[in-house]
Amino acid sequence: MERVFDLPIHRNHRWIFNCFTVEGASGPVLVDPGLPSVADDAITGLARLGHDIDSITALVCTHTHSDHVGGIPNILDAAPVPVYLPGRCESYLDGEQPRVFGLMHNVRFLPVLAEERFHLPTLRELARAGRTIGFGGPRHLTLPFDPSGFLSQDTEPEGLTGWETIEAPGHTDDSICFYHRDTATLLSGDAVVTLDGRAWFNPEWVDPELSAESEEMLRSLEVRHLLPGHGQPLEGADIWPRALSFTDRPEGKGLLARCSRRLGRWGR
Ligand SMILES: [Zn+2]
Repeated sequence: MERVFDLPIHRNHRWIFNCFTVEGASGPVLVDPGLPSVADDAITGLARLGHDIDSITALVCTHTHSDHVGGIPNILDAAPVPVYLPGRCESYLDGEQPRVFGLMHNVRFLPVLAEERFHLPTLRELARAGRTIGFGGPRHLTLPFDPSGFLSQDTEPEGLTGWETIEAPGHTDDSICFYHRDTATLLSGDAVVTLDGRAWFNPEWVDPELSAESEEMLRSLEVRHLLPGHGQPLEGADIWPRALSFTDRPEGKGLLARCSRRLGRWGR
């Protein structure tokens, strides 16, 4: 577990999968306890900070892809923590089938995989989680627990005093971000990832028009700290000026960047 800049926030990650622990006034809140091992790491990290698992106020998720909700059962096995999901999930649980993107979108995303050192057990874990929880693998949203509530536009997420929920669909229809205006901090989930020290509005999308609207809306927010679902946190006044759009092909000479540029079927 590592502190994020000088914020009351810590990051756990395995490979490119981030879980953030925000130290709220009433206790810690975990954002995107994605893969089981990452959730376990977050619990261990909390113990080092002097918090036991019962002190967690809430688990909140930026969307319900498997890699963002897969670790929730590990925490619920140990403590009855309330779980809050994006508002759109209510209709997913009523039977709406979430829209998913295809393989070519995964190809575009490839260079993000090199943001952290590759870790084979994490890839295996991702494959397992994809079969049993969330959506992406299964056609419908599958959850082995009952959410305590849903988060909609402009509401304060449970336990996150001073934060706002911001709907940012495009990557998925249920994508939300959490924004702390006083410190200009954005927990972006997968609406924005990072690549080579720059923000990248996610080139994996189910709806390019929604992605364009969400990008424009997020760029209108002052953001000096970007904490993405995948990749390295960024700090500075130039995060948006330097950011790649969701339609921008990645730069760089690495194999994954070249694959992304050549095989990603850009423009579709
Ligand atoms: Zn993700």
